[in-house]
Amino acid sequence: MSKEELLTNVKAAMQQHELKVYYQPQYDAITNKLVGAEALVRWVKPDGSIIMPGSFIPPLEEDNTILELDWYMLREVCSFLKKQQQENLHSVTVAVNFSRRHLYEDDFADQLCKTVSEYDVPRKMIEVEITESAFVDQSEKIAEWIEKIRTAGFRVAIDDFGSGLSSLSFVKDISVDVLKIDKSLLSRNCEDEKERIVLESIFNFAHRLKLTTVAEGVETREQLGFLRTCSCKVIQGFLFAKPMSEADFSELCKNNENVGEMEDILLVQAPSSATQLLLEAVFTRYPLVIFSNLTRNSFYMMAYENFTARSCPSTGVFEELIAHGASSMHPEDQDLFRNTFSISNLLSAYERGEKSVSIVTRQIGDDGIYRRVETTDYFVKHPSVDDVLVIALCHNLE
Ligand code: C2E
Ligand code: MG
Ligand code: MG
Repeated sequence: MSKEELLTNVKAAMQQHELKVYYQPQYDAITNKLVGAEALVRWVKPDGSIIMPGSFIPPLEEDNTILELDWYMLREVCSFLKKQQQENLHSVTVAVNFSRRHLYEDDFADQLCKTVSEYDVPRKMIEVEITESAFVDQSEKIAEWIEKIRTAGFRVAIDDFGSGLSSLSFVKDISVDVLKIDKSLLSRNCEDEKERIVLESIFNFAHRLKLTTVAEGVETREQLGFLRTCSCKVIQGFLFAKPMSEADFSELCKNNENVGEMEDILLVQAPSSATQLLLEAVFTRYPLVIFSNLTRNSFYMMAYENFTARSCPSTGVFEELIAHGASSMHPEDQDLFRNTFSISNLLSAYERGEKSVSIVTRQIGDDGIYRRVETTDYFVKHPSVDDVLVIALCHNLE
């Protein structure tokens, strides 16, 4: 298909409403509550086949047709939000993608206000997403463009942050509400130290600038665990939900419940500065601290230094952690360790009203020598969760 044909077909598809808004939910990283969604275009052909934006957006970007598409998407989103409102259904803020070409529309902010008013949707329900690449050489123009939109009451997000080569300095020259961290910065397990340092720094600076952080493309529990330690606020990714049709999203809003099976570990464990200091003090004595949720068979580990000879994932399944821990112990201690820290044994101790469970085992070090290690599991209760939680503190007795 030639480019001209494609453009004609896309325009026709808009008229026939073959271009549909799919909504990808965004969740609070700590409470797992639905807090927003991103509107993503899908071309749904009459035969039900779906064409992804990657295959038709780039040619539109070379042409002003992208402007038409974005305005079309905004109207579709407003119409959805209005419907939700009329039916008294819960809804959340929806982020709409706007191409950088809108920077050259002189009346962008006015057109935005006008469109949204037609549907009687509160402006704060709409978030304008503009990609980081738009900021290259455009700082001044963009600052003004954003200022107008925010003054009118809309939220603004920088999309794909970290994907391009733009300099960080642009962030200080503009005021936005949200920074969306690009998925290219996240590897599957976030184990690489340099990657962790880069991400920690990005989150740190974003939070100091009072920006809401959204991590995009979160697919694994390891990524989630790490992002929580960075105090990332919002998660958008396949781990929680894929983009979905309007009907499915409306259903999801209706339930607006926690994503049950993802509910895990300690609900609140993103350290604020006071707890951070406290943790540092704890680490001086206990180089390994593990938060576990016995009810959900999950754990989250914080290690101050390489405590065990075998490296361990920092989040995952509790029973696998115990099996892994036992494997680095003296053969005679392995059964004791496995039995003491089995979920059933810990739960019985908890039900008997015990405050903690503690044992000493011999653990092999990097040098092949066994050292006595004390592991104590303290039972803790979180005010808003019924789950049985434990915090394990481990330290070397030698
Ligand atoms: P984007 O704005 O950065 O949107 C996020 C993309 O990441 C979406 O791809 C989404 O499906 C994908 N994604 C989300 N979570 C995951 C994950 O866990 N793993 C993986 N592998 N991918 C994930 P999608 O829908 O294919 O859209 C691609 C791009 O097309 C968007 O990137 C955006 O730049 C553009 N686009 C989509 N809809 C519109 C639109 O209405 N207007 C404009 N101007 N651009 C749009
Ligand atoms: Mg986007
Ligand atoms: Mg993005």
